[in-house]
Amino acid sequence: MTGRVLVVGGGVIGAATAYFLAARHGVRATVLERDPTYRCASSALSASSIRQQFSTEINIRLSRASLDFYRRIGDELAVEGSRPDIGLTERGYLFLATAAGLDVLRANHAVQRACGAPVSLLEPAALQARLPWLNIDGIAGGSLGEGGEGWFDGYSVLQAFRRTAIALGAVFESADVQQIRSENGRATHVRCADGRRFDGDALLIAAGAWSAPLAAQLGFALPVVARKRDVFVLASPAELPGCPLVIDPSGAWFRPEGRGFIAGCPPRGDDVDDAPLEAIDHGLFEEVLWPALAHRVPAFEALRATGAWAGYYEYNSFDQNGIVGAVPGLAKAFIGCGFSGHGIQQAPAVGCGLAELIALGRYDSLDLAPLSPQRIVERRPLLERNVI
Ligand SMILES: Cc1cc2nc3c(=O)[nH]c(=O)nc-3n(C[C@H](O)[C@H](O)[C@H](O)COP(=O)(O)OP(=O)(O)OC[C@H]3O[C@@H](n4cnc5c(N)ncnc54)[C@H](O)[C@@H]3O)c2cc1C
Repeated sequence: MTGRVLVVGGGVIGAATAYFLAARHGVRATVLERDPTYRCASSALSASSIRQQFSTEINIRLSRASLDFYRRIGDELAVEGSRPDIGLTERGYLFLATAAGLDVLRANHAVQRACGAPVSLLEPAALQARLPWLNIDGIAGGSLGEGGEGWFDGYSVLQAFRRTAIALGAVFESADVQQIRSENGRATHVRCADGRRFDGDALLIAAGAWSAPLAAQLGFALPVVARKRDVFVLASPAELPGCPLVIDPSGAWFRPEGRGFIAGCPPRGDDVDDAPLEAIDHGLFEEVLWPALAHRVPAFEALRATGAWAGYYEYNSFDQNGIVGAVPGLAKAFIGCGFSGHGIQQAPAVGCGLAELIALGRYDSLDLAPLSPQRIVERRPLLERNVI
């Protein structure tokens, strides 16, 4: 593959793929991004945390490979001596389980250990000794990442991929893609809202939550929708030494951020598509999240929500995992989306894999075949138990 690749969507998946195409294969991409300010892009609104505690081998391996990249991102994405700093903070995830969830926690732990993830399974007493500020009422056990999990600045990651891809020859165009055209079983060109046409030798749909209408034009029913998730910014006098990202059995999560914390939980009621991002559910915080946090960490009784934001999960309603690979039935057309809350942590390994598939026609680094769009056609879900 030597021609130009059209990438629709310049979020972290599109930008990472453009970078790996140029850096590893000498292939140039034209990335078509309708909003270069990234106001609604999931990559700019993410909680940007990374874990190894999944239940499927492919997700664990993707996050481990991506973590390796994030640890050396300063070297990988340096441009003219300027090294990106993404503030990677490795403090672990803590998954807490009630008695009803303990078997699943143990089963997941076995898969994680088999993949080399440094995760400890802790009894309540051991948890209490490690984290004295935690209320272990109703908790039967927890799994704690002892390394290689934490959080980072996702917007800096996106900008670093973009900047380095451009330095290596990729072009980012401000362009709203409206139509994708295919002839004789291959995608040939796209047409934008302003009438411009872009031709390419291959095409990647990486338009996040907005990918499905584009894929439909290629005859593929992509099960990806936009599901709003609220994140609350918290000020608290609580001192929580060694605080990891904590996932409570109620579904609430929190982690340190700067001098305070951020937190969230699943939406109340129906998880509807395309809810406006401006409509933050403040009642969710008051009635659901805060009580759950204050129960788990008594020192959180005194916290205050000082802000909030919302972004869209590019939610894969089929099996909540990334959909990565060739569009079924078409030559030189590819998809990378649908990560449902774990896409920014997997972007380096996904971008690397997509670049291999596009440039070489095969995976060389990590085999991403389990994420193939073909599984949707064949109705073979990839079941991941640890979706947050
Ligand atoms: C609140 C929240 C918390 C999250 N927390 C985590 C986390 O802790 N860890 C984690 O790994 N992941 C997390 N995620 C998920 C993660 O942020 C996403 O999986 C990831 O950012 C998806 O990147 P993307 O490039 O596919 O999509 P996006 O970043 O949304 O990029 C897609 C781009 O395509 C553009 N576009 C769309 N349609 C068109 C078109 N027709 N023409 C041109 N351009 C178009 C859009 O403008 C957008 O910029 C979270 C997401 C949210 C919302």
